[in-house]
Amino acid sequence: MREEFWKHYALEQLSPTEWEALCDGCGQCCLVREVEHDQVTVFNIACGLLDIEQSRCSDYENRLSKVPYCSQLTAANVPEYDWLPESCTYRRIHRGEALPTWHPLLTGSREQMRKEGITVCPSAVSVEQVPRSQRHLHIIKVKAIY
Ligand code: SF4
Repeated sequence: MREEFWKHYALEQLSPTEWEALCDGCGQCCLVREVEHDQVTVFNIACGLLDIEQSRCSDYENRLSKVPYCSQLTAANVPEYDWLPESCTYRRIHRGEALPTWHPLLTGSREQMRKEGITVCPSAVSVEQVPRSQRHLHIIKVKAIY
């Protein structure tokens, strides 16, 4: 990876390795959400493939075929994906913002992210544990989309 690539290159200029390294591994994009018109409702319910403890997809290579509603993030669609969390590093870089101080590329681990509550662990539960009728009990955020 090129030195401090996140400072010098746009998302579409990143190599595949740099692109993957930019993901902070918060797991927030793996939470169940409902997008309606001008608002997104986020639940602390995680996709069944998410390893909640590690905040990592347990089958990243095959996620798109296994989970039909999983979205592949690309440099082209980051601007359209306004349901991503504000903290998402791809969003931040797209907006010209700096890497957050807790990012693993700066700290070397996700320890600081955990301390600051950026990762979904330990509050999230797997979608397999929550009946659809109980989802409303797990709402953590309702956000307007502009
Ligand atoms: S929200 Fe963004 S930074 Fe966090 S895991 Fe998802 S893609 Fe990576």
